Amino acid sequence: MKKLKDKVALVTGGSRGIGAAIVKRLAAEGAKVVFTYANSLEKASAVVTEIEAAGGVAVALKASSAVPAEVTAAVDKTIADFGKVDILINNAGIYVGKAFTEHTLEDYNEIMAVNVQAVFVAALASVKGMPEGGRIITIGSNMGDNAVGPETTLYTMSKSALQGFTRGLARDLGARKITVNLIQPGPIDTDMNPANAPLADFLRTRLALPDYGAVEDIAAFVNFIASDESKYITGSFLTIDGGLNA
Ligand code: NDP
Repeated sequence: MKKLKDKVALVTGGSRGIGAAIVKRLAAEGAKVVFTYANSLEKASAVVTEIEAAGGVAVALKASSAVPAEVTAAVDKTIADFGKVDILINNAGIYVGKAFTEHTLEDYNEIMAVNVQAVFVAALASVKGMPEGGRIITIGSNMGDNAVGPETTLYTMSKSALQGFTRGLARDLGARKITVNLIQPGPIDTDMNPANAPLADFLRTRLALPDYGAVEDIAAFVNFIASDESKYITGSFLTIDGGLNA
């Protein structure tokens, strides 16, 4: 039997990259999956078409994680259409990498809005009606533990904040048997971090395994955490980074 049959999942940022792989994997396991995107209508539609062709259920919603009201509306629409959110995956994220002296307050506000504030807003809207056995899974980064190199201050700060969120919320929701966990990817080949970009050669020198990971490497573990088999794992951080932080 499919592991996520009868579950409803909401994934932020599911049109491309890691989020799209998570959406496809959860749908293949039987979940009804709603996902958001900011701009990529065509890519989002292609994800829906692929899932429907395989007999699954997926819905794409345009909702920017930078705008709290849009995040809340996406959660509310999921509940209106499917009755609940069992599994919230906070995946949408942006990267700002530049010398610290070139950073602006706008950079700070933008990255914190998408990478941190939206995670809080989506969780707040989702947990009120989340059933027992619910899951809140956030995609952080290995950089939450290790800044790796210069010019990453804001991104590293945003991903470290997710650790405190995960610890605190795990304790708030444990009595309801809802688990809260943080997945921390390392270099995964996506538009955000292409395996053929100049930065990639530097990152490869830091890896234990010889190359970048694939989006499916992250989706596979998210699928496990989303399932009932992970029910005693909460407040945990799992770093999937080819040994970069080893
Ligand atoms: P991509 O840039 O390849 O894809 C980002 C996805 O998030 C897209 O679907 C995009 O939608 C969506 N998104 C971006 N901004 C917003 C927004 N404001 N509102 C709603 N959706 C948005 O990123 P990755 O797949 O590489 O990254 C996914 C997550 O994994 C991020 O949190 C990232 O920080 C984290 N991560 C990635 C690593 C990597 O090496 N790739 C390593 C460690 C962590 P649209 O297509 O519409 O723009």
